Amino acid sequence: MKLTTKILLGLVAGIVVGLLLGGAPEIAHTYIAPFGRLFLNLINMIIVPLVFSSLIVGAASTGDVKKLGRIGGKTVGFYLMTTAVAVTIGLVLGNVMQPGAGLSIPVDASIEAGQSPPLAETLLNIIPRNPFNALVTGSMLQIIAFALFLGIGITLVGEKGKPFLSFFDSLAEIMYKITAFIMSLAPYGVFALIVPVVAVNGPAVLLPLLKVIAAVYIGAILHAVIVYSSIVKIFGKINPLKFFKGISPAAAVAFSTCSSAGTLPVTIKSARDNLGVPNGVASFVLPLGATINMDGTALYQGVCALFVAQVYGLDLSIAQQVSIILTATLASIGTAGVPGAGFIMLTMVLTSVGLPLEGSALIAGIDRILDMARTSVNVVGDAAVSVAVSATENELDVPQDEGIGTV
Ligand code: ASP
Repeated sequence: MKLTTKILLGLVAGIVVGLLLGGAPEIAHTYIAPFGRLFLNLINMIIVPLVFSSLIVGAASTGDVKKLGRIGGKTVGFYLMTTAVAVTIGLVLGNVMQPGAGLSIPVDASIEAGQSPPLAETLLNIIPRNPFNALVTGSMLQIIAFALFLGIGITLVGEKGKPFLSFFDSLAEIMYKITAFIMSLAPYGVFALIVPVVAVNGPAVLLPLLKVIAAVYIGAILHAVIVYSSIVKIFGKINPLKFFKGISPAAAVAFSTCSSAGTLPVTIKSARDNLGVPNGVASFVLPLGATINMDGTALYQGVCALFVAQVYGLDLSIAQQVSIILTATLASIGTAGVPGAGFIMLTMVLTSVGLPLEGSALIAGIDRILDMARTSVNVVGDAAVSVAVSATENELDVPQDEGIGTV
């Protein structure tokens, strides 16, 4: 059986067992959750060395600052466009499905508005003052910047840079091997991660807010089917089904971990092995995407903003909705690829259009369920853009027979 199929089976089995254990979530927490944590730790263990080494090699093999700039420009362009479309889909669904209509749930929690760091500061901080500190703390944008400098430096130095390059080349290969090993555990990891989530968030938690959940999930599917299918078909000339199948291991891990940063090694492996994205592009576009490209999060913010407005009986003008598109796009860039980060940013989006913050308390209870969908979209969106960017650089090499997850 292929690994992808096994991962999906692990996911389904986890949902079923989670529902069965719904009455006794402590069993799930005590006996099953630790295995999920172990799997997460394994993935997290390799993120920094994997991204760092493969990006150095990628930048050095590109060897050309102009080309790197071009790839960077295209990537950011694709990321911004897809994110803006995602919020718009979220807003349209919020208007059409009216998830908050007729709902009057007492809200008693008090919520503080989240704050995104000022954009200028984020931009300035991309250059690390201490690159070793960036590696230790895992600051992804800073690691990307430093690796790019090193890669370019290697090319400029010429002969003398070779030993350094072969060291990182070797490290990158080793990291790919370790990723493959960790991936072979993914079916069990995904199972162990999803059981406690389902056991705790049983149907009783979900039912009252079913419409919001439906709107976010329908939006996620629509966005993937419309936007990502078109991108990979138009630019990559890939059959969308092949694309979704190829990226499904990453989507399943994203769904169960709710962390695009934590899924990164799996995303890189799936994009390389199953979609034919070259190392040079994958090692740059995907870590950047896991940090700044959050289509699912933006979509969720669109739906939730309208939901809150409807619960409080407020009408949002077109101008306010346009303002949501802008704020949610920026907020999603500032959202960290970790569980629940999008919820904190939601409070910022609500404040920006003057919606009551307490409204987000309604969402808090089901946020994990929404996070699963949005994180999957976030990750699949990064992969779609990596396909498009590689294709426009004439570097996409789609494998005929996908060796999905072969160890
Ligand atoms: N959990 C999401 C991610 O890692 C971010 C969010 O909370 O929206 O992509």
